[in-house]
Formats: sequence, C-alpha cells, structure tokens
Amino acid sequence: MGIFERPRLKNNKKKDVPNDLWASCPGCESMLHALDLKQNHQVCNKCGHHFLLGARARIEMLADTGSFIETNAELYSKNPLNFANYENKIDMLREKTELNDAVITGKLDIHGKSAMIAVMDFKFFAGSMGSVVGEKITRVIEDAIANRMGVIIISASSGARMQEGMLSLMQMAKTCGALAKLSDAKLPYISVLTHPTTGGVTASFATIGDINLAEPKCMIGFAGPRVVKETTHQDLPPGFQTAEFMLQHGLVDAIVERRELRDRLGALLGYMLK
Ligand SMILES: [Zn+2]
Repeated sequence: MGIFERPRLKNNKKKDVPNDLWASCPGCESMLHALDLKQNHQVCNKCGHHFLLGARARIEMLADTGSFIETNAELYSKNPLNFANYENKIDMLREKTELNDAVITGKLDIHGKSAMIAVMDFKFFAGSMGSVVGEKITRVIEDAIANRMGVIIISASSGARMQEGMLSLMQMAKTCGALAKLSDAKLPYISVLTHPTTGGVTASFATIGDINLAEPKCMIGFAGPRVVKETTHQDLPPGFQTAEFMLQHGLVDAIVERRELRDRLGALLGYMLK
C-alpha cells in the first residue's frame, strides 16, 4: 500500500473525553478542568493566565446578586449591505452562543452602587462591532445620562465588523459622541480592556475612559503586530501591544486581576459618584 492510501489513524479513545472538559493553559501548559476554570472565573489557578470570559459569566461575577436588568436584548443585525452569507453566519452564532450580538447591556449594582454596563463577548463574531453593538452601547450611555449614572464598558473585540462596512465604522464616532455627552453631564466612564481589544474598538470608546483598566497580559492594539511590522519596517519592542506595555506608555491607568475587578469597580464608582 502506498503512503497516500494509508487509512487515517482512528483514535476512538478521545471520543470518551468531551473536548470542553479540559483546557490546556497557554501560560503554564497545565491541564485545567472546566469546573475549576469556571469556579475561578476562567483564570488559571496555577499561573494566573486569564482565559476569555463570556459576557453573561462576567456580569454574574460583577453584579450584586439579582441586580442586573438587561436592556435592548432583542436587537440583532440585519444584512444592510447584502454581504454574502452574513445572515447565515449571524443565525448560526445566535444559536451557538445564545447571544443576539457581541455585546450585552443593562443596569447593575456593584456593592450597592448602580451603573449602566456594556460587556462585549468575543465568542460572538470575534466581538466585532457592527451597527447593533454600536447602537446598544450608545443607548446604554444615553440611559446613564437620563438616570444620572456612571457607565462601565468591558471590551473584547477584533474591531469593526467588515460585513457592515461603513455602518460599522460610523459606530466609532457615534459611541464617542455619546460618551462626550456623558462627560458634559459630569458622569464617569470606566473602560475595562480585556483580551483582545483591537481595531475600531481600541480606536474609539475602549481607550477614552475617565479611567482605563486592563486585565493582565491582554492584547491591546489597533492593527496586528505583523501588519505594524510590515508597514513600519521596524522591529517591535518586547511586550508590544500588551496591557503592561500600555500601562508603561500611559494608555492604561491600572492593570486589575479579574478576581479584584468587582471590588475595584465598586470602589471607583463610590469615589466618582455622589
Ligand atoms: Zn496556567
């Protein structure tokens, strides 16, 4: 039998172990049980590596029990530019993730302090910002102004969603315009950058908080490192586009571990709101 005709090796053993039961840690290569990760809010208990955390799990971690009230949950993207297969992909993601788009918005209390919040979810279309993400974030800011509350936005995004073209790009200006009105109303905006925050989200609302927090070692950038290197023809400095690099260079005010985030946000809301 020639080498190209060899039957593929079958590994029936692997079928007994569900894929989502164990995860290999990119930080220390330990095998971590899904249950341990869940209890630890998706942080490696050996090396502290922060895995992606879904929007619903993050809200549950941050909000006082039973305080979260979701807003505009029913909004989802149409296909305004008739981009090929876009509707199918949206349908598939809605079913798979049980989210209608890449952000969940609403009102919550943290240690008894009320705030409006938007939490992005990278699992939905790589957290990309189309018209629905931009609209929900804008509405949450407008609700905060109407009710005299602060805003928290937790980003995790690959940037603007190309399937909605210019309609995605205009969300950058729209969200920033709403945040300018929040600032005029003397209400605070706390931005939390998580892995990864890139593209049009970095270049708009994610980096203009009154306070910008970031999770350890998360990637923060506009274009990816390869594109930057090819464009500038220069070697990139060590740690380029990490939260720690951005802290050193003044884009981020503090790096906050996930287990401390709830207490830190509660304290900041207390300082910034009367
Ligand atoms: Zn680890």
